[in-house]
Amino acid sequence: MSGISIGVLAVQGDVAENIMATKMALEELGLEGIVSEVKTPEQISDIDGLIIPGGESTVIGTLSMVNGSLKKIKEKIASGMPVFGICAGMIMLSKKAKDRVLGEMDQPLLDFLDVKIERNAFGRQKDSFESVISIDKIGISKFPGVFIRAPSILETGKDVEILSKFNEKIIAVKQGNVLGTSFHPELTGDLSLHKYFVNLIKAKH
Ligand code: GLN
Repeated sequence: MSGISIGVLAVQGDVAENIMATKMALEELGLEGIVSEVKTPEQISDIDGLIIPGGESTVIGTLSMVNGSLKKIKEKIASGMPVFGICAGMIMLSKKAKDRVLGEMDQPLLDFLDVKIERNAFGRQKDSFESVISIDKIGISKFPGVFIRAPSILETGKDVEILSKFNEKIIAVKQGNVLGTSFHPELTGDLSLHKYFVNLIKAKH
């Protein structure tokens, strides 16, 4: 089997940190593969798995729509490619998002993850925090959750599996090949979620 190719959407946000964490995850799992920045529809069509990093979902969405990569990502999701959306990335994957203060905004979304999201659900930048969370459903009993202007999930459709909650708020979900977290695993030294995602890609490869 040839190595797997994992892309990190390089529009805005935590790109370098995700590339590093994914490379380390591959190495720890003893798997062959490459991890690269992807920006264009052509680059996206060549990968086996994609991470959409945290950042600002309105910016990531608008820029990805303009260059055609949003459409390509949609096609790839529909064809079964695993995608991991982190914070703004999870917002991007959702069908519906509204801001806690500003309400609904006309922002481009991938319209796949059957959830209703509240952006900035825990407050703004100054309310960012860290807390130990558990993602028992996928065998991760303790994980350092880093929440930065984090969203929460208000409602889930029937195909969505809730993986974790914090203070009654849903903070991690999975729907088939799509994984989403409100928090930022790439900013911790803990590779368990990146390893879990790499294994999802490997299983499809
Ligand atoms: N609040 C940001 C948004 O709504 C997400 C923050 C993040 O990705 N850390 O897009």
